[in-house]
Amino acid sequence: MPIIDSCSTHGLMTIEGAREKLLQALRPIHGTETLPLVQSTGRVLAEPVSSSVNLPPCDNSAMDGYALRFADLASGLPLELIGKSFAGAPFEGVVNPGTCVRIMTGAPLPAGADTVVMQEHVEAQAESVRITCEVRKGENIRRRGEDVVEGATLLQAGEPISVAYIALLAAAGVSMVTVVRKPVIALFSTGDELRQPGESLSEGDIYDSNRNALLAALAQMDLDVLDLGILPDNKQAIGDALQRAAREADAIITSGGVSVGEADYTREVLEELGEIAFWKVAMKPGKPFAFGFLQGIPFFGLPGNPVSALVTFYQLVVPALSVMKGNQWSGPKILQAQLLKPLKKKPGRTDFQRGVYRSNENGVLVVEPVGTQGSHILTGLAVANCFIVLARESGSVEAGEQVVIEPLGVPLG
Ligand code: AMP
Ligand code: MG
Repeated sequence: MPIIDSCSTHGLMTIEGAREKLLQALRPIHGTETLPLVQSTGRVLAEPVSSSVNLPPCDNSAMDGYALRFADLASGLPLELIGKSFAGAPFEGVVNPGTCVRIMTGAPLPAGADTVVMQEHVEAQAESVRITCEVRKGENIRRRGEDVVEGATLLQAGEPISVAYIALLAAAGVSMVTVVRKPVIALFSTGDELRQPGESLSEGDIYDSNRNALLAALAQMDLDVLDLGILPDNKQAIGDALQRAAREADAIITSGGVSVGEADYTREVLEELGEIAFWKVAMKPGKPFAFGFLQGIPFFGLPGNPVSALVTFYQLVVPALSVMKGNQWSGPKILQAQLLKPLKKKPGRTDFQRGVYRSNENGVLVVEPVGTQGSHILTGLAVANCFIVLARESGSVEAGEQVVIEPLGVPLG
């Protein structure tokens, strides 16, 4: 077992511990809103929804064919054709012995009939029909209530509404749903060197990639954003923004200023105005990550380095925000893959190396690291489709070894 480097990892929280602490400290936000069904995709249901109808609402035909009485087939005689039943225009009469009705898919089964024979299995004349194939009693009928029974619960409170659920709820006639309201996330970047893309750069300036990426990620997660822009490295400005964010938002995300440099004020200001639950996580990239509360509002202080900011956001803030939205978070979805190139690592922090995984010609999952792994190398993150997760205590890994990978999903995938 390799020795953990205690100089660089002293006082750090493990990624698992950090996640557990975050998730325990957070609750779904209060407040609901009632929306038209089609605007509710991805939202979390606040009240259970039940069906006011049976699905299907009545016995109906699964085929274009003929509705008849099974007992009539024993004689082998042709059946008299007495009418038609269409979806939306049912046959109003009764199928008496010796008769049948032309029926289309979805049309109600006429009274008296107990079986539908598909049209390919009959010889039809103008006024009579002869059955040419073997028939099972009751075939090709969709039964009333076989999908959903009237009064049944379709979806419980706390469940996210997927597109398939929209289909089910619409089929049950639901037009409006009550969902957990959207959390509002306050967001700002800090750094005297930061400029918005489109502005001109002076010596030493860089463009603000973090806030732009986070705006896109929050939009993809269907969250509302209070965008407080780029703040200078100035305690007063950062303090004012944090106070406003705590008044107007449900959570605060910042980037930069949580490390140990002389212009790293965010953590300092948060310590003065609120409380820090933990700071520094044993992960790479992303060691400086601050989590705390300001007037009861959760605060996530991401590191400034662009890859670190997005990796900590994905690993720690996405689970936290999904809990605030009312969702469950069931842990990272991981797979095993064979490493194609060696990876260097010191024990002490969990590594989230950027990689590209695929299934090789033998159907085996393999993964290749994306070259340079620096926490400022955005091209690597951009081409990656997974993290290669190396455990905290693990050292370097050889090519050919099995490693844990985490395929990237929304909002990074
Ligand atoms: P900091 O955490 O503020 O010490 O920043 C660490 C590194 O990340 C520095 O090189 C910063 O210039 C850079 N950085 C900080 N914020 C951003 C940002 N919003 N976009 C891109 N790079 C940033
Ligand atoms: Mg900075």
